[in-house]
Amino acid sequence: MSRSAHPAGPRYADVLPEGHYSPPPADLNALDPRVWARTVGRDERGALTVGGLDVATLAEEFGTPAYFLDEDDFRARCRAWKEAFGDDADVFYAGKAFLSRAVVRWLHEEGLNLDVCSGGELATALSAGMPAARIALHGNNKSTEEITRAVEAGVGRIVVDSFQEIVRVAHIAERLGKRQPVQIRVTVGVEAHTHEFIATAHEDQKFGIPLAGGQAAEAVRRALKLDGLELLGVHSHIGSQIFDTSGFEVAAHRVVGLLRQVRDEHGVELPEIDLGGGLGIAYTSDDDPREPREIATALREIVHRECAAAGLAVPRISVEPGRAIVGPTAFTLYEVGTVKELPGLRTYVSVDGGMSDNIRTALYDAQYSVALASRTSTAAPMLSRVVGKHCESGDIVVKDAFLPADTAPGDLLAVPATGAYCRSMASNYNHALRPPVVAVRDGQARVIVRRETEEDLFRLDVG
Ligand SMILES: *Cc1c(COP(=O)(O)O)cnc(C)c1O
Repeated sequence: MSRSAHPAGPRYADVLPEGHYSPPPADLNALDPRVWARTVGRDERGALTVGGLDVATLAEEFGTPAYFLDEDDFRARCRAWKEAFGDDADVFYAGKAFLSRAVVRWLHEEGLNLDVCSGGELATALSAGMPAARIALHGNNKSTEEITRAVEAGVGRIVVDSFQEIVRVAHIAERLGKRQPVQIRVTVGVEAHTHEFIATAHEDQKFGIPLAGGQAAEAVRRALKLDGLELLGVHSHIGSQIFDTSGFEVAAHRVVGLLRQVRDEHGVELPEIDLGGGLGIAYTSDDDPREPREIATALREIVHRECAAAGLAVPRISVEPGRAIVGPTAFTLYEVGTVKELPGLRTYVSVDGGMSDNIRTALYDAQYSVALASRTSTAAPMLSRVVGKHCESGDIVVKDAFLPADTAPGDLLAVPATGAYCRSMASNYNHALRPPVVAVRDGQARVIVRRETEEDLFRLDVG
């Protein structure tokens, strides 16, 4: 099927034959620490808690659906990435995973850098005080306005994505009397997802300039000639939800090959390489992601080895985790509205959100877990599909999950690992009001993105 080519990978495609499911977990009330945010647990009455607050209290104060984000976990993950990569590398958080001004401040405080890929993300970063020098601008079709704003602000790097853009950025920088630091995004012919990667000579996608056919080398040649550009290095991003570093190994080999070619041709050793993001997280107990330390050690070793073989000084490395930082830190809390049993098939459990707050299941056949959150239960496991309230049969939140057979209207369900690409991809489909993001820490809950209101809808609908 066409979806199997998506970067999320075949694990997320509809490859299991209908009727083939993993057995139910031994304990439906257990919370796998790999899947849930760090401070999530259950209190003595069985209610799920985060940051010391129970979900019934949170639902009463903030309503459902809502995203609850564990701020301590977010900060701990930032620190783990920063420490793992040390002083000779830079960690850029990929803002597209989830960005708000509170998040920008946390990143700033924890010493991370920030990737943005639009004027809106750039404005958010700047308005929350992220120093421009620590911002990188991405995108395959940045507008003249976006580039101008970024150059004016003095962003640390623009990752240029096409031959036209090399000229465009150089022209804008020269006009502003500046020399803009840039990296060139190259496509190395590696498509990585989950446990496999495919290495090819060319890549059929919209991002980057192919190494194949000497195109990337030509891009470097042109960039080096332009006064408006300071060429820092080469950027490669190979996929998403990756659990294995072997794809990075092939990518680093090819990128370092380009650096060597640049040195041989121009006598220039480019000082930086960026290996992108895409590191996987656990959406279900079947996923087993690597720790930042292991990833850092592996990537550093790969780059050092390739550079030694090429006789190059080791460039400064950067990485761009998005999902791996924010993904596990949040869960979505829903209230059950209806429970519909289809004998011999499954039970449909409808919640008060859906594809408007989590499009990933509909878009990528992504897998999620779900837990009964307002209480524990000793009822038997019931094969369930958690669905939303939208006018679309593909409006599925969790495709296959076991819930206790006594799950009933009014119960609260929590879907973990929704910190990345859920609120940031949320929509107003069916005029849904996008849920709030509530940061929880040390027994305090604080709205960082408020719930939309009908007034917000009418503000845009000017009649
Ligand atoms: C999306 C993206 C990332 C982040 O990907 P994650 O899977 O969230 O880690 C990093 N770099 C680039 C260029 C991206 O497009």
